[in-house]
Amino acid sequence: MKRPRGHNRRVPGGDRIFQRIFTRLGCHGRPPQFLVEFHPYAGLTHTVRLRGETAHVRLSDVLRRAPVPVIESAAAILLGRLYRRRPPTGLLDIYRQFAHSIRTRAQILALRRSRARKLDLHPAGSHHNLHEMYEHLNARYFERALPYPRLGWSTRSWRAQLGCFDPALNQIVINRALDRREVPGYVVGYVLYHEMLHQKHPVRFERCRRASHSVEFRLEERQFSDYTRAMKFLKHFSTTRRR
Ligand SMILES: [Zn+2]
Repeated sequence: MKRPRGHNRRVPGGDRIFQRIFTRLGCHGRPPQFLVEFHPYAGLTHTVRLRGETAHVRLSDVLRRAPVPVIESAAAILLGRLYRRRPPTGLLDIYRQFAHSIRTRAQILALRRSRARKLDLHPAGSHHNLHEMYEHLNARYFERALPYPRLGWSTRSWRAQLGCFDPALNQIVINRALDRREVPGYVVGYVLYHEMLHQKHPVRFERCRRASHSVEFRLEERQFSDYTRAMKFLKHFSTTRRR
């Protein structure tokens, strides 16, 4: 999805805010030139990349209507990470409070829903058909009780994650890197089965995190018929390998 570039993406006064926080954290060396833009990330993601003398900062556009102290607090988190400085707790708390507020949560959900609607998902890949697999797994392991999700392959290959379930959207996306001939069907089946277990076991967070894998979850995961084989394959499989 392409979005217009230009002044509307610029964070007003963003460079000055980052300069200020750079000084406040006592970061070493000469401060870089800060280019601070809003970016349509899926949630509250913010990134900073240092290239030569320029620091490219992308703040989630959820912050578009946030007051300056929240931007400062986000800047402290990013610069603290980049320069290994520990920002004062008071400064961090401002961002935390903003991120956890009901209003922000609601805004993120609304944004993600509207963006997801525009995202076409295709379950039929070049080598593996997720739709057929889903129907088969739902019948075999879940007595067809799981509600059919928005289902498809990721647009690009992901580096680390194999699959992702988003409970807010009832959506399962599987890493496109697995849609290859040399990846056996039981491996894709296992990854899909894992995400289906997330559908079955509600979790506190949207993303696939360790905290969301309970003992019960892990036990049920082992019921997958090719669990051991699939784990063995994935251990030696790097998703970054080129096609
Ligand atoms: Zn998981």
